[in-house]
Amino acid sequence: MATVRAYVGLGSNLGDSRGTLAAAVHALAALPGASLAGVSRLYLTAPVEVHDQPDFHNAAVALDVPAGPGGSGATGPIALLLALKSIERAFGRQERFRFGPRELDLDLLLFGEERVSVERPPEGRSPDPAKATRLLEVPHPEVSRRLFVLAPLADLDPDLVPPGWVESVEQARARQESIEGTAAVRPVAGWDAASGSWVALGP
Ligand code: ADP
Ligand code: MG
Repeated sequence: MATVRAYVGLGSNLGDSRGTLAAAVHALAALPGASLAGVSRLYLTAPVEVHDQPDFHNAAVALDVPAGPGGSGATGPIALLLALKSIERAFGRQERFRFGPRELDLDLLLFGEERVSVERPPEGRSPDPAKATRLLEVPHPEVSRRLFVLAPLADLDPDLVPPGWVESVEQARARQESIEGTAAVRPVAGWDAASGSWVALGP
């Protein structure tokens, strides 16, 4: 079956975030038909939007996944989104307000060249009106505005130009770094494929 390269953003700021993100990498790699194509560095990042909460750990992974029936359309990305949501729940994610603290956040950043926008059915809306009314939007609309997403994505594929963008991931990262400052997003560890865990970065 045809495969597509998807990029998933990972975040956590409750509990053992570093351990959670390592376990989440393994859970993503174990999804049916999926194969892990890359893991970014691990970053310690200042919270955005809601500032009164612990710092986050963030990372991103590249995952080769089945394209879905027919090789295009929303089926493949929606199947992946549902799998991400079920991994979040398995890691104890509770429903809270938008931008608030979370055990594990998995966002579907990119799904190959696909651009998808699927409205949530009315009965599927979150009780929190600030939460997205889009069931799925790919590329994830916040990617280009967030250094904590752009930095790990640039580790994986700096020259990538996502669908609908006019610049590369690395160009967006550099621009956003000049806005947010270098202290906003700090690399703290790298992924060691042999041990399947994070290892501290050298000096
Ligand atoms: P946050 O926006 O802080 O990540 P959630 O993880 O609770 O908050 O996501 C809110 C909703 O955003 C999800 O229920 C999901 O349906 C929707 N959503 C839309 N596009 C995406 C995407 N590309 N990846 C993940 N969730 C998405
Ligand atoms: Mg999310």
